[in-house]
Amino acid sequence: MKHRTIIILVFFLAATIFFIYRFLSQPDKDEYLFYPMGGIPCSLVEYDADSKKFLGDARSVESRVDQLEDVFNIYRPGSEAARLNDSRPDEWYPLSSDMYRVMEKSLIWYGKSGGAFDITVAPLVRLWKAAAKKGVVPAKTGIDSTLVRVGSSKITLSPDKGIEFSAGGMELDFGGIAKGYIVDQVGRWLKENGVEQFVFTCGGHVFMSGKENFRVGIQEPGGGEGDLMMVMNSSPGGVVTSGHYERFSEIGGRRYSHIIDPVTGMPVDNSLVSVTIVADNATDADALATAVAVLGLERSVGLLKGLKGFEAVLLEKIGGGFRVHYSRSLADRLEYEGEWASIPRVEF
Ligand code: AMP
Ligand code: MG
Repeated sequence: MKHRTIIILVFFLAATIFFIYRFLSQPDKDEYLFYPMGGIPCSLVEYDADSKKFLGDARSVESRVDQLEDVFNIYRPGSEAARLNDSRPDEWYPLSSDMYRVMEKSLIWYGKSGGAFDITVAPLVRLWKAAAKKGVVPAKTGIDSTLVRVGSSKITLSPDKGIEFSAGGMELDFGGIAKGYIVDQVGRWLKENGVEQFVFTCGGHVFMSGKENFRVGIQEPGGGEGDLMMVMNSSPGGVVTSGHYERFSEIGGRRYSHIIDPVTGMPVDNSLVSVTIVADNATDADALATAVAVLGLERSVGLLKGLKGFEAVLLEKIGGGFRVHYSRSLADRLEYEGEWASIPRVEF
C-alpha cells in the first residue's frame, strides 16, 4: 500500500470561501464541488477512482445531500423539519429514520452538555435574527417569554410514536448537528458503494475514510484560503470546526454570535475563537463543537476531559493575541505553521 498524505482544509469562513474550479480530474484524485444548504461548499474527493464511476458517485452524493436537506433544513418549505416546526403541543408526530437518529443524538448531547447543546433553541435564534434586522437588542421580557418555549426537556422521543412537544410554539433548529450528520451519511453511502479512500467535506465538517495519512489544515482566524494556523495529522473519521465568530450579526455596532446560550437566551460571548473536535464520526463532533462554543473554555475543558473518544483544539483570544488549548493525545500530531509556532499552548 503506497502511503500518501491527504491535505484537507478546515475553514473558519466555511460559507464564504471560493474555489477556482468546480470539477477537477487528476490521475490519482477526483474532486467534485457543489454548493447546497444556501451556498456551503461541499467537496467530494476520491482517490484512485475510476473517473466515470466517480461522476456517478458525485451525482448520487449531491442528491443524497439534497434529500437530507428535505429532512433537516428548517428554511426549506415542506421539509420534515419545517413541518415539525408547525406542530401543536401534546400530539405525536411520526419521524423519518434520519430525523429520529439526529433527534436521539441531539438529546444525548443536550444531557452531556448540561443543556448547552439544544435543538429547541430555534425561537431564540429567530428572536435574535429579527433583532438584528431591526437593529435593536431584544428586551429582557422578550427573551424571558421566548425561553418558555425552549428546552429539550420539553420534548419526548419515542421509537414508535415519534416526537411530542409539551409546550406550545416550540421549534427545532438542526444547524448545530445536521451538517455533521450529512457528511457521515454520505460517507456511509460511499462505503456501501465500494468507495474506500475518500474525503467528504461541507464547510468545516469533514468525514475521511481510507488508509491514508490525513493532514487536516486549520485556517488562521480571519485568514485566506492558504493561511494555515496548524496542520493536524489525523486518522479516518470526523473532524468539525465551529468558529463562532465566523457568522454573526451586528446590532448597534456590536457583534453577536449566531450561537445562542439556551440557558440565558443570549448570544454566546466568550474567549473561544474556534473549536475543532476530532471523533470517529462527524455527527457527534458537530454537536460537541457547538456545545463547547456555548460552554466556553473552562467548562469545556472539564467536559472534554471526561469524554472518551473525542479530541479538541481550542483557540482562545487573550488580549491582542491567542492561546491554543489541545487534548494531550494530539500533542505529537499538531504542526504549527509560520509565526504560529510560538503561540502559547496549554495541554489538557
Ligand atoms: P455550528 O456552526 O455547528 O456551531 O452550529 C451553529 C448553528 O446551530 C446556529 O447557526 C444555529 O442554527 C444553531 N444553534 C445556535 N445555538 C445553538 C445551541 N445552543 N445548541 C444547538 N444549536 C444551536
Ligand atoms: Mg455544530
